[in-house]
Amino acid sequence: KNEQYLDSQAKRESNARSYPRRIPIAIREANGIYVKDVEGKVFIDCLGGAGTLALGHNHPVVIEAIKRVLDDKLPLHTLDLTTPVKEEFVEELFTSLPEKFAKNARIQFCGPSGSDAVEAALKLVKTATGNRSMLAFQGGYHGMTHGSLSLMGNLGPKKQIPGLMPDVHFLPFPYDYRCPFGIGGKEGVEIGQTYIEQLLHDPEGGIVPPAGMIMEIVQGEGGAIPAPDSWVREIRRMTKAKGIPLIIDEIQTGLGRTGKLFAFEHAGITPDVVVLSKAIGGSLPLAVVVYHEDLDKWNPGAHAGTFRGNQMAFAAGTATIKFVKENGLAAHAEEIGSRLLSQLHDIQAQTHCIGEVRGRGLMIGVEIVDKQHALNKLGQNEPAHPELANRIQQECFKRGLIIELGGRHSSVVRFLPPLIITAEEIDTVSEIFLEAVKQAEA
Ligand code: PMP
Repeated sequence: KNEQYLDSQAKRESNARSYPRRIPIAIREANGIYVKDVEGKVFIDCLGGAGTLALGHNHPVVIEAIKRVLDDKLPLHTLDLTTPVKEEFVEELFTSLPEKFAKNARIQFCGPSGSDAVEAALKLVKTATGNRSMLAFQGGYHGMTHGSLSLMGNLGPKKQIPGLMPDVHFLPFPYDYRCPFGIGGKEGVEIGQTYIEQLLHDPEGGIVPPAGMIMEIVQGEGGAIPAPDSWVREIRRMTKAKGIPLIIDEIQTGLGRTGKLFAFEHAGITPDVVVLSKAIGGSLPLAVVVYHEDLDKWNPGAHAGTFRGNQMAFAAGTATIKFVKENGLAAHAEEIGSRLLSQLHDIQAQTHCIGEVRGRGLMIGVEIVDKQHALNKLGQNEPAHPELANRIQQECFKRGLIIELGGRHSSVVRFLPPLIITAEEIDTVSEIFLEAVKQAEA
């Protein structure tokens, strides 16, 4: 029974545990887009390890790659010593990155999680510039360790921690639906750009020369918010003009999820630093920071750590990257994502609580709002409705669909299915979601 495991978990695991509170199952098996709980109930997994499972659960190429490491008795642990398996991973990753970026790039292997890669990126740009402050974006998410949490543009998870990095300046993200300037659309985006440009140029504007700027191209945990390509290009132009290293956090967007192998490719920019984790380890823990060689100013040993790359993760990662490329999964994500977007727009028209449907590729969000209430005083949109979003999540769960909530008010339903999901499977997801919304609204 699920209950037995959940009771034990609740008794022994910390109060900080998160997903089990909303997805109350113990998982026994998993295959492709499906997970099966200990009671034998099957669920479609549209959380996908929070964007990690590009190939779904236990994909044969991943299993095969891991088995090979074991069968060949390859070393399971080597600190950051090199091995043929590691070399193969580096080669595969570098040839996947745009040539313009990869040709002058260096890689640093980090601890196993995305947050570790963000920590390393922070140290890298601080070392290279000698500056201490950082620029980040409202609604951004970069991890839960001390430094990465400091960069989070959402107060919620930061409230209980006194003494985070104080020198972080948060800039407005082009979140059209809740535009920080009271105007959505193109005009709001342009005002946002001008605002940022002025801040960067005004020596009395309160921004001291920063060590770097960090941003997501599509905010993930922030609620599946894509930045327009033109805005991304403007940010690149401004940071370049001011000599500010630009760190693109591709931890969630990387490896095909948004319809390109890397989300920064949509705008055609070349970042100074890219942080990667989640999908690149083929469902095993792996995190790296890849950056322009000019920033490589830290001393030998400046970023050490016991677990910096795991042979099985390298093998699984190489197999995953190859499979994504050889099977055109980025284009597939784009196609299936458009199908889901259009179905969700239909659902929006048939129901009463969906404020906005948005996303890019298979990184899609549905903002649940309270349409009973008047528009807010800027006339922008209806207030967020986290309780209803929660009910929708529970109704989906009852019907065998796992989805996650995100956004600044936990009111955005997020879809992050494995990239291998088929058109028929996405149709089922939409059908279940429609029923769930109708039931939750009733
Ligand atoms: N950056 C982004 C954009 C993320 O989505 C996440 C994880 N959701 C992280 C960083 C942190 O990664 P991890 O949870 O592996 O530390």
